[in-house]
Amino acid sequence: MKSSIVKCPGCGLMLPNRSIAEPPRFHASGECMELYHRLSVYTMARGREAFIHQLALDAYGAQHSGAGTRPITTAFSLIGLYLAAERGFTGRQVQLAHMELGRQKIAWPELTPPASAGGITVQDVLHAEEGQARDAAIRDWGRSVWDEWTHAHAWVREAAKPVLPA
Ligand SMILES: [Zn+2]
Repeated sequence: MKSSIVKCPGCGLMLPNRSIAEPPRFHASGECMELYHRLSVYTMARGREAFIHQLALDAYGAQHSGAGTRPITTAFSLIGLYLAAERGFTGRQVQLAHMELGRQKIAWPELTPPASAGGITVQDVLHAEEGQARDAAIRDWGRSVWDEWTHAHAWVREAAKPVLPA
């Protein structure tokens, strides 16, 4: 008999089991991934100027790193979280930084996920009212994930140097 509740291996979110397959690229339950896709419909509609979508993608990517996640995905996610949380980058600025880093030949390390995923999930973000409240929730989410990855902070800050203003 299948379990009626499925726990996301990335963020720990407990959701009704709807037998949705786990996504190949993220360490996530299919049910959690579906919530992310719902959030994406919202973030993509927020437009390209601030491009809040990038911040949601990086929060989700770092929080759902593990088996099957490519090292570059985890590294890019963490660099994005750092630039947003500590350097005040907008999503659009993070997107441009990712493009710049993508042009460089860098050996991306395997970064081990922290024991805790932080206290905020994609479901919490969806509960925030659309507009400024939800955009703020996305930023809080990113910061909470970033704060858990303390063991990777030194590496991330170094890796992000080429895209910081001189
Ligand atoms: Zn999850």
